[in-house]
Order: sequence, then structure tokens, then C-alpha cells
Amino acid sequence: MVKRKPPVEKNQTLSVTFEDLTHEGLGVAKVEGYPIFVPYGLVGEEADIKIVKVNKNIGFGRLVDIKKTSSHRQEPPCPIYKQCGGCQLQHLDYQGQLQAKEKQVRDVMKRIGKLEDVLIHPVMGMEEPWSYRNKSQVPVGESEGGLVTGFYQKRTHKIIQMDSCLIQDKTNDNLVQGVKQICEKYKIPAYDEQKHTGTLRHFMVRSGHATGEVMLVIVTRTAKLPNKESIVKEILEKYPFITSIIQNINDRRTNVILGETTKVLYGNEYIYDSIGSVKFGISARSFYQVNPKQTKVLYDQALEYAGLTGEETVIDAYCGIGTISLFLAQKAKKVYGVEIVPEAIEDAKRNAQLNEMNNVEFAVGKAEEVIPNWYKEGIQADVICVDPPRKGCDEALLNTILAMKPKKIVYVSCDPATLARDLRVLEDGGYRTVEIQPVDMFPQTTHVECVVQLELM
Ligand code: SAH
Repeated sequence: MVKRKPPVEKNQTLSVTFEDLTHEGLGVAKVEGYPIFVPYGLVGEEADIKIVKVNKNIGFGRLVDIKKTSSHRQEPPCPIYKQCGGCQLQHLDYQGQLQAKEKQVRDVMKRIGKLEDVLIHPVMGMEEPWSYRNKSQVPVGESEGGLVTGFYQKRTHKIIQMDSCLIQDKTNDNLVQGVKQICEKYKIPAYDEQKHTGTLRHFMVRSGHATGEVMLVIVTRTAKLPNKESIVKEILEKYPFITSIIQNINDRRTNVILGETTKVLYGNEYIYDSIGSVKFGISARSFYQVNPKQTKVLYDQALEYAGLTGEETVIDAYCGIGTISLFLAQKAKKVYGVEIVPEAIEDAKRNAQLNEMNNVEFAVGKAEEVIPNWYKEGIQADVICVDPPRKGCDEALLNTILAMKPKKIVYVSCDPATLARDLRVLEDGGYRTVEIQPVDMFPQTTHVECVVQLELM
């Protein structure tokens, strides 16, 4: 085959029509089949673009002028939308976002999953797709005027001040600002990433949507937090509704926010929240879904797909603090949950007691190691639920599922591409993908969650 030169050149200006949106939210235009990715371009729009980069198989451009505007284009409500990068779809109205996410799921199911006629429902969206996040997590830096708390400027490690974020819970944002001022008063230095000096690394606030309980986590490089008692006292005077203040110590040179040591400075080690009729205690280092309203939608769907009658043995892999496990335990004979973070399993066990559920058992470890052992010990699941991180299920786990042959699999996924890859493996191993329900857990961003029901053929 003759190698073709890209049909465009750097700095060239040309007129294009956008045909697609990438999973990162970039508009895609094609010139003689050669794709060009352009930030903020929307499907159906005609625009003049300038080529900024030419690679062998793809190019990148920037919008110069939109000639024909999409009816779904909107003015991004957030004034710092373009600087931040935390949201990628604010220039697209919500209906447009839901359509784009549905298309994203359809495309990967065909392309990666080779699933031609699978039933994919429209994305379940939110009535009010703003202020939904129950967790703020902001890096702390310094400027001449004092501390800055905000976000890393897109593709840099420069922290830009942000007083409020449109997708965050407002109370959490206010709290961060107040805590920043108190720490400033006591002259607590921010962490310097380059020199690995200073104290304050991050502030994290998580609130229980149903209970109103609030946890503040102050992440420091050093175990010592100068004037700790006075700081805690002032925070509580200003924000008496806080239920728990935690210091987390992270002395490593890393992008990972939380370190391994936590100290309770005030209140409990955890806060409570409930989803439906199940109550959960959540500690600082445990994973907990960030969109409480949509979590209920997601878990209800998972429960429906599990189709439990009260007779089933169920495995919940990647169970976190046992949220899905306990949801399923309401309708199952027995549920086994497995999760890699030990604190999350401590939370899960406490949560089972809290809800007086005696039909659940939890284990710490890798799902791909623990479940094969369970299988060897003779544990036989009727239903397996998996909710892995973005990289999807480990091959060893998929192989064990295929050997164990549960009647149903419920797959909860935050990455459609790895989901499609895993569905192909399960299909080839004798399962049929019955239906896929995408749920919008992260409005204004390109992320989309899916719940899938599979059955043994
Ligand atoms: N089902 C839970 C958590 C889902 S997030 C909920 O809805 O809240 C995915 C979880 O998988 C995280 O808690 C993470 O700590 C855990 N995890 C990551 N890799 C794992 C592995 N190899 N084995 C078991 N758990 C893992």
C-alpha cells in the first residue's frame, strides 16, 4: 500500500463540517477521510478551522469562525469553563449532551464489542444537571496574596483560584473557601510540588445528600499541622454543621490525592448517607459515588437487571463500601462482596451491621484473585455484579465468571470502551447482552455510566 501524505498542512485554514464528537468532547471533521479533531466543534456545524498539528493519521485544529451553528450550541454557563477542563460539554445543551453520550455508547458497542443489534436505551439524564457533586476536592497552592484553592489549569500544574463550581454542591464550595481563609490566618504554607516542601496539599469535602452530614479532609504533606487545635475550633465556630474533620497525611511525590494515614481531628471517622432505604457510613479514603441522585437511578437499574427472587447467591465484585452489595442483599439469599481497599471493606462490614443485614460477607483483595478462590471453595453464584474502575475487568476474573456460569451478569461500567471489550469476551464465552441502560452520572462532562444485563445462553 502506498503511504499517503496527510491532506492538510500546519497553519492551513479550511472550511469543514463536523460529523462526530470524540469521547473527550472534541469535534471531528474529515478531509479526504483524514480526521481532524477540533475543540468545541459540534456535530452538524460548518466552520472555518486552522490546522495546529498534523500527525500521520490524525490532525488537530482550532475553531476560527462558525458559519453554521448547531441548534444545541449554548453559551457555557461557567465563566472559567475553557480554562478549567473539568467539564467538557458545557457548550452543548443538555439534550445534546444526552444524545452525544448515547451515540458514544452505540458506536463503541458496534466498533469494539461487535454487538450489532443490542438493545441500548436512551441515557437516563437529570432534571437539574447542575450542583450534583457531593464531593469537592481542591488542590491548595500559593500566590502573592495568600493561599489559592481551585483547579489545575488545563494541561498544567498551575492552580487557578476558583470560588465556586457549577457542578459542585454549593455548601461544600463555601466551606472550602472558609477553611482556606482560616488556614491563611494561621499562615499555614501550601505544598510546593516542585520542591516537595510546605504543608497543605488538598481540601476535600464530602457531604451526605440524604443526611446533610459533612466531612472535611485536610490533606497535608507533614504529620504536623501547626495550630491544629485553633484551626479546628475556628472551622467549627464558622461551620457548626460539620460532622467530621479528618487530617490525611500524604508525604509522597505523587498526583494521588490521599495518603495512607488519616487522623480524626473532630467527630467520627466516617459520615453517613443513605440511598433508598439503605444507610451507609463512608470514611475518607473509601470510594463513594459522587452523584447521589443518579446513584439511586443506577442502583435501582442494577437491582432490576439482577432479577432477584430471594433465592439467589450473588457476588458483587469491586464493591467499594458495599453499596451495591447491600442494595442486592435486600432481595437475595446471600451476597459476597470483594474490594481491594481495606478501609472500604471495613466500611462495608459496618454498613451491613448498620442495616441489620446478615446475609452478606465481604473480603479484601483483588476481585481477580479472590473470586477464583471462592470458586475453588465451591461458592457458586447465580448472579454476578461487577463495577470495575475504568480499565474494566481483569481477564482472570472474566475467565472465572465464564467457568462459574452464573445465570445472570450485571455489569456496571464507567467506561464504555472497556465495557464493550469485556462484553465481547463474555459473549464469546456463552453470554448474551440483553440490554444496556446508560445513566448520566456526570452531566457537563463526557463521562457516561452504563448498566448492562447479560444472561447465560
Ligand atoms: N460498586 C462500588 C464501587 C465502584 S468503584 C460503588 O458503586 O460505590 C470501583 C471500586 O473497585 C473501587 O472501590 C476500587 O477501590 C475497587 N477496585 C479497583 N481495582 C480492584 C480490583 N482489582 N479488585 C477489587 N476491587 C478493585
